[in-house]
Amino acid sequence: MERVKYTTKTGLTQYKPVLRGMPDEGGWCLKCGQEVDGVEPDARRYTCECCGEPKVYGLEELLMMGLVEVRG
Ligand SMILES: [Zn+2]
Repeated sequence: MERVKYTTKTGLTQYKPVLRGMPDEGGWCLKCGQEVDGVEPDARRYTCECCGEPKVYGLEELLMMGLVEVRG
């Protein structure tokens, strides 16, 4: 999945996914910008296997938080 860099309120650089059409299944790590399989769409603060940070959210959850770039 494509990703876009953004800056959080606390000044951290994180990544949000770019979605085209309906959200896919699964989740996303905001910290390292990796797609994470096997995560419920409403998951929150799961620990990322890649970077170890609790920054994995389901895509529906990200949509609700406005942390998905939706295109076309
Ligand atoms: Zn990560």
